[in-house]
Parts: sequence; C-alpha cells; structure tokens
Amino acid sequence: MTHQASTTRRDLLKLAGGAATFAALGAIGTDAARAAAPMLGVSRPSVYRFKLGNFEVTNILDGYVQGNGPHPIFGNNQPAEAVQAYAKSQGLPPTKMENVYVNTLVNTGKELVLFDAGNAKGRMATAGKLADLLVTAGYKPEQIDVVVITHGHPDHIGGLMEGGKPVYPNARYVFGEAEFDYWKKGENIAENRKANREQFMQVAVPFGEKATFLKGEGEVVAGIRSVPAFGHSRGMMAYHIESDGQRLLNWADVANHYVMAIQQPEWHVSFDDDKEMGVATRKRIFDMVSNERLPVVGYHMPFPSVGFVEKAGTSYRWVPASYHFNL
Ligand SMILES: [Zn+2]
Repeated sequence: MTHQASTTRRDLLKLAGGAATFAALGAIGTDAARAAAPMLGVSRPSVYRFKLGNFEVTNILDGYVQGNGPHPIFGNNQPAEAVQAYAKSQGLPPTKMENVYVNTLVNTGKELVLFDAGNAKGRMATAGKLADLLVTAGYKPEQIDVVVITHGHPDHIGGLMEGGKPVYPNARYVFGEAEFDYWKKGENIAENRKANREQFMQVAVPFGEKATFLKGEGEVVAGIRSVPAFGHSRGMMAYHIESDGQRLLNWADVANHYVMAIQQPEWHVSFDDDKEMGVATRKRIFDMVSNERLPVVGYHMPFPSVGFVEKAGTSYRWVPASYHFNL
C-alpha cells in the first residue's frame, strides 16, 4: 500500500513536471518558432541535369523576359483579338507573356559542348546569367571545349564575349555555314536586324578564324550532328544528340512558345526572319519528332525545357518530360 501510494505520488509529480515543461515549450513555440515565416520571394529552378545514354545533359536558365504578348509576336499575321481569344482558351494570359532563354550543355565524357552563349550580361536584369550559373551547375567557363551557335540572334550570341574578351577562352566554335555567311556578308539585312548584325560582327565574327562551319548534317563531335532548320533565321541549325541508343533533338528556336508556336504552327512569328520558311520548318520538325517520339530540348520552352511533341488532330502539342530520363 505504502509503496503504491508513493509511486502514485511520484507519478503525479512527474506528470505535473511534464505538464509544466510542456506549457513552457508551448510558450516558446508561440513566441519564436511558430512566428509567421518571412516572405522569401519567388524561387525558380535554373539548373536541370539528366542522363542521355552515356552523356549528361544540363539545361541552364540564362534568364527570362516578360512583356506584352503573345500578339503581335505570335500570330503576327492574325487579328490581335483572335490571338488573345486563343491564348485565353488555352488558359494563358491574353495580353502578357514570359519567354525564357535556356542553354543546353552536353558532357559526352570526352568534351563539354555548350549550345549558344545566352544574352549579353547586363542586356537586361533578368537574363545573361549563363556564365555564372555554369559554376552553380558544377563547371567552369574555361572547361568548355566546344561552343555551338545555333543561330546569330542576340539571345544566342550576346554572351560570347564580356568586355571584349571571350567568356569561353579554351573553346573551339561551331557555326552553321549559311548562318555565319549571312550575317558576315550583311546583304539584305532587315531594318529590325541591323543592330543584331552589328552585334554579330563584334562578338561572333572574331571566332570565325578558329571555327568549324557545318553544312547539311555535319558532325560537332561523335554523337552530335546538325539538322538544318532554316527560317527563324537564314541558316539556323538544330542538333541531333545521341548516346548509347538514346536520342534527343536540340531544336534551338524552331518553336519559341510552347502553345502559340506549336499548336498554331502556321501563325507567323515576328522573330522569324523568313516567316513562311519558319512555318515549313516547324511542320517538318514537329512531324519528325512526333513520328519518332524523339524528345526535344528547346531554347524557349518552359524550364526545364525538355519534352515531346504529340500530334493533336491536324495540329500538335507540347508534352513536358516527367520521369522519362530518370529511369
Ligand atoms: Zn532565341
């Protein structure tokens, strides 16, 4: 009896102590740990790496731009109201849009191959991050063996130099021959591309001396070859990447918007230097990648910018990759 009673008293004391401790913890929790969390601002992923056979492919978000659109950039030959209504019907804001810039880096195990150089640092506050993010992704600009320029527009060549010096000092350079010649010769340059031509002369032409120029299906390194995709620019090249039976197409700017340019391939795009050729190239490449179930990386596809194109009736649609490359 006595023993039981004392045990009971001890238990009661323990319980009382526990309750007191609990109450104290609760008080601390309310005062500090459970205070409202501060707002941290938007967090956007900017590096995404996946395996393709024995290659590693890293997509890096050089940046983004936000502004008015999709019309008149997309559906350039359509009435504004029709394009706005279509955007709305697809769940997109009718008069505002964002476009991303995404560079693809391929490590073949022997070479580091970088596709395009991103925007010039300082061109805008929200882009020109590629060289810095390469370091975040685990590489140094000095390690890049090959820089492949898909075409000569500012968002693809701007980051070749900084302060008049090459950003990738040890790289060799690869251009499509027709593209390089077009910009270098400077004949029939449209008014809206005159500043672009000046920039090409300043930051791209100096690399011509140690460059390789590709025609048709030309090889960059073993496993990577060009696929002509003229239209968006006079001589743009897409690139077919293959390792150990796994394939991928880097289509550069064949489509610049994952809805407007893919679901309405015939709508003109103001960025296309030859608009009708842009249409023909979109249809040819969309047919190829949908028939072959060939995955795509695209410079202006929503990050992480890897996916598929499916046929949808007489049109097409973008299907983002999910775990396809993780298995
Ligand atoms: Zn572009």
